[in-house]
Amino acid sequence: MAIFMDVIKRHREILPRKIEKVIVCNNKNCASLKETYVKQSFILVDEENMEYKCEYCDSIQTLKAL
Ligand SMILES: [Zn+2]
Repeated sequence: MAIFMDVIKRHREILPRKIEKVIVCNNKNCASLKETYVKQSFILVDEENMEYKCEYCDSIQTLKAL
């Protein structure tokens, strides 16, 4: 169990505060999808649930679901 918790802890540490390009916004009307010059950018809002918020439309993306 201790090893398991260690893995979780280590995994959380590598969760970046900001992700660019890797995630595609789930909001079809999002500016980052329509304008090719706009870079996909997501800010970490909930580390526990691995949730990221789109910088352009505030839509929440959960990495767990990916
Ligand atoms: Zn968006």
